[in-house]
Amino acid sequence: MSETPMMDELEKGPWPSFVTQIKRAGESKALMAESSKDLLRQQETAFTEKQGLWKHGGIVGVKGYGGGVIGRYHMRPEDYPGLEHFHTMRINHPCGWFYTTDKLREVCDIWDKHGSGLTNFHGSTGDIIFLGTNTEHLQPIADDLSEKGWDIGSSGSALRTPTGCVGPARCEYACFDTLDFIHDVTNTFQDELHRPPFPYKTKIKASGCCNDCVAAMGRSDTAVIGTWRDELRIDNDAVKEYMDSGMDVQSLVVDNCPTDAIEMVNGKLELVRAEDCTRCMHCINMMPKAVRPGVNKGATILCGAKAPVLHGAVLSTVIIPFMKMEPPYTEFKEYWEKAMDWWDENGKVRERISELIDRVGLDTFLKHMEIKPVPQMVKTPRANPYIFWREEAPPGLDEFKKYIH
Ligand code: SF4
Ligand code: SF4
Repeated sequence: MSETPMMDELEKGPWPSFVTQIKRAGESKALMAESSKDLLRQQETAFTEKQGLWKHGGIVGVKGYGGGVIGRYHMRPEDYPGLEHFHTMRINHPCGWFYTTDKLREVCDIWDKHGSGLTNFHGSTGDIIFLGTNTEHLQPIADDLSEKGWDIGSSGSALRTPTGCVGPARCEYACFDTLDFIHDVTNTFQDELHRPPFPYKTKIKASGCCNDCVAAMGRSDTAVIGTWRDELRIDNDAVKEYMDSGMDVQSLVVDNCPTDAIEMVNGKLELVRAEDCTRCMHCINMMPKAVRPGVNKGATILCGAKAPVLHGAVLSTVIIPFMKMEPPYTEFKEYWEKAMDWWDENGKVRERISELIDRVGLDTFLKHMEIKPVPQMVKTPRANPYIFWREEAPPGLDEFKKYIH
């Protein structure tokens, strides 16, 4: 009987199986001959014991980099000698994940030469993930990648590899060039990416519109979400075409506008309360030929999303409702550097920026950033004020007074 019956079960069915891939790697690569068997055996044990058998490995460095290689060490190297050290590497992906086949072959050849050949295209941060190699191969991989113009991604207490949606390359909704933006900030903040300088990790993600295809609002400390400052554009001839083809625009589009900003008036779709439109994208998604974003485009800057560690999942908060996003993105870079300086000065070890804001108050952050608070930032007025009143008037007090009765 096989040593790994549960793993063998995962080869059945019509879908690709990682078990089959691991077995194939073991047959075709000397480096994997022992490791592939150990990988399957240890996974079988992990299923049986209902616990993971990898240590939290920390960071393994290569020359010039403080992050990028994630140490994987086994808890029982005596039982699984092929996995004593079996590290994961992150490789900085091209913006929008566009490759030529030549470049794909190139990166796979480098990994085949020095590692397991097992990959994950792509990890949740966006990087290409190389799964499994020994410590002595790390520097040769980094050297080969560098020679061909590839770069290692980020890990540790650094700016993690920035990621954006495909944006204008394939999507008419894009309100700014997410590809150019991500390429630019990746190059500008190389030091922050490769030499971990912060209390903990921090992320920048960019989506060209509110559909937020890279989930920046839920996954990144700094989310840049495309939006428009003027009014969305409606082509009523196209609306009529949708209606003529049988679409119930009233119930499917108008009734689902979250702010009642649009109405059907005499058979025409109209933006009757433009100031209430929250740019949620619903009407545009439903009728892309008839409704489009406005022409004065830019992005909203949000701060503070993260997945759970201590305080559970946190969605980001709007800090700057509208910022023009044009090269060289000076306004964004100045904003980001100033926010990071504040976090770096005040954050505890392993405290994300949202946790620091939670600890000291949003008003403290806004005061440092010299940004006026707005009423929408008040979480629970009076009972538990999110904005604390000071004896001296905070910036924006006059604006607040309009809302106090
Ligand atoms: Fe298109 Fe918006 Fe998705 Fe980007 S986030 S790919 S612009 S729909
Ligand atoms: Fe309403 Fe959203 Fe369309 Fe604005 S984008 S009008 S909020 S459905």
